[in-house]
Amino acid sequence: MFFNVPLAPDIPIYATTAAYKKDPNPNKLHLGVGVYRTEEGNSHMPNVVRQVEKTLANDPYADKEYLPITGIPEFNRLSAEIIFGSDSPAIKESRVTTVQCVAGSGALSLGAKFLAKYNHQHVVYLPEPTYGNHFNLLSGSGLALKTYRYYDPKTRGLDFQGLLEDLDSASVGSVVVFHACGHNPTGVDPTCQQWEQIRQLVRLRRLFPFFDCAYQGLVSGSLDADGQSIRMFVRDGGECIVAQSYSKIMGLYGERVGSLSIVCKTADTARRVESQLKLIIRPLYSNPPIHGAAIVTGILKDRNLYKEWTAELKAMSDRLVKVRHQLYNALCERGTPGDWNHIIRQVGMYSFTGLNEEQVGFLTKEYHIYMSSDGRINLGGLSSNAVPYLADAIHAAVTR
Ligand code: PMP
Repeated sequence: MFFNVPLAPDIPIYATTAAYKKDPNPNKLHLGVGVYRTEEGNSHMPNVVRQVEKTLANDPYADKEYLPITGIPEFNRLSAEIIFGSDSPAIKESRVTTVQCVAGSGALSLGAKFLAKYNHQHVVYLPEPTYGNHFNLLSGSGLALKTYRYYDPKTRGLDFQGLLEDLDSASVGSVVVFHACGHNPTGVDPTCQQWEQIRQLVRLRRLFPFFDCAYQGLVSGSLDADGQSIRMFVRDGGECIVAQSYSKIMGLYGERVGSLSIVCKTADTARRVESQLKLIIRPLYSNPPIHGAAIVTGILKDRNLYKEWTAELKAMSDRLVKVRHQLYNALCERGTPGDWNHIIRQVGMYSFTGLNEEQVGFLTKEYHIYMSSDGRINLGGLSSNAVPYLADAIHAAVTR
């Protein structure tokens, strides 16, 4: 029956990890997959996660019975509060519906399915470039994908004019995906003033904003500051969708925890929207898993744990900024040809180095450095000790 099934190609980011694991070289570096590691290169699990896990035996969900289709109610309430702010009028007026999802990916996919059913315009605009899996997650439901200009390779910054022009010419009702903060893969975010201009244009052109929020708190170290882009759009009373991920911000990668929030204009609309989300979820996976969401709930509902978690987030974002500066300084010290200022201008977990595919191939072959072929490096996987080695390798790649 399956005789003719063709062999699918490997998925690049997984292939990079597999190649790294196989490499016996002691100096090897893994800067591919977006996982935050400690200074010692070990996987990082926030201390609060360990603490809460110890108490889960007494959790109300310890019986492991099915959750409601929309997940743990308290998880949903608290998730909405960290995205929109606990004093958000949209929450107070019950205009937001939030449902637990199978991580950020599941939230994006659920959002796409909802939009395909209920948004009259089936065009979705993605930034160019964007998180690679966006194309898979958002296209399957019958939505047509287009891109809008975002990154300017000449300045290695935002192509703001191009972005405005492309959104200005999008048809009414088109969905526009924005990275709420810490754009993956470029590390290039609009400024607050630019977000405000984007918001005005989106509302004027009656486009539909769909935020992907996978790095809240990892950019500036503050959940509130990193939530500003979304909160601007919520403050104006209009609609938007937010896909949230706890993978990076709580180190819960494999637990697959996230949420989808839809901000509506009235509480009654939000209630009806939630009823439809249930109908989409039911045939997909019926109801979400408990464990990861119970951990998140345990942290968010406890004042002390919440404080400890946000302090850990701040320390993580500080370390990202520190290695960014160390890499920049190391390249300057070596007199590596080119302007490397973009490394310290970019923000969040990634640096879009500007290295081309051939140079990346050189780094892998000669220096055992594994990274995305587009030149993106995950700073979360880079320790201070490894910076000189990486800088030597980049220097060799660009001067050979
Ligand atoms: N959106 C972006 C921008 C991401 O970088 C990622 C993960 N790399 C995701 C969504 C998916 O996150 P999750 O692992 O929670 O599915």
